[in-house]
Amino acid sequence: MEMLEIKKLSKCFDDLEVLRDVNITVKKGEVVVIIGPSGSGKSTLLRCVNLLEQPTGGEILYMGEDITKLGKRVTGYRKHVGMVFQRFNLFPLKTALENVMYAPIKLNKIPSKEAREKAEELLQKVGLESKANTYPLALSGGQQQRVAIARALAMDPEMLLFDEPTSALDPELVGDVLEVMKKLAKEGMTMIVVTHEMGFAKDVADRVIFMDGGYVIEEGAPADIFSQPKNERTKSFLARVL
Ligand code: ADP
Ligand code: MG
Repeated sequence: MEMLEIKKLSKCFDDLEVLRDVNITVKKGEVVVIIGPSGSGKSTLLRCVNLLEQPTGGEILYMGEDITKLGKRVTGYRKHVGMVFQRFNLFPLKTALENVMYAPIKLNKIPSKEAREKAEELLQKVGLESKANTYPLALSGGQQQRVAIARALAMDPEMLLFDEPTSALDPELVGDVLEVMKKLAKEGMTMIVVTHEMGFAKDVADRVIFMDGGYVIEEGAPADIFSQPKNERTKSFLARVL
């Protein structure tokens, strides 16, 4: 079964049509990378999947259920879907460990000892066990982003959405974050990743989707999209970024 089925999704902000007739399916364990120029609707798409934005039309089925009709049960749905943003959005007055512990305690009522042990494990997983007691401002951007990933993982998500997770980082810090994401992909995490890191897309994606002007223009295996794009718009975008 498909984990996520986006059908005829549209989103307007007043007169501005940002997503038009978007159809995307994601299977459990798949890594789907979304590429496309700035303003093409990539962030809005992820925000619709997480219901940070309410779609204007169409359906988003998660495990067969239309999430746009969940009403109050949206909180339960959001727990299954983690999101990692371009700007890490950590709580500045909490340490790395406290950032990771927070949601499980607050939302899942996990006892704090248990949450702490799990948070320590997750910080180890992202290579930051030595920074547990450090505050975000004393961490590099790459370290902050890895804490943000650990924080998303703390809720045991079934799917992770990444919105340009390395775009705000100095180039030398990008690699460590991509390594963590690769590890998650290998472990079978279902991921939708908006990124300009074409190397990551080639190595890790099961499928690459090219968006432009609110439409999905082309999708396929990375080898096909990168070496023989069919659409002229895909070709000219790739010619600019590769
Ligand atoms: P991308 O992530 O591909 O750069 P976005 O989804 O951020 O694209 O934006 C797509 C278009 O939607 C842009 O023209 C942007 O200005 C517009 N947009 C995004 N969010 C809003 C909003 N909350 N209100 C009005 N316009 C928005
Ligand atoms: Mg964006």
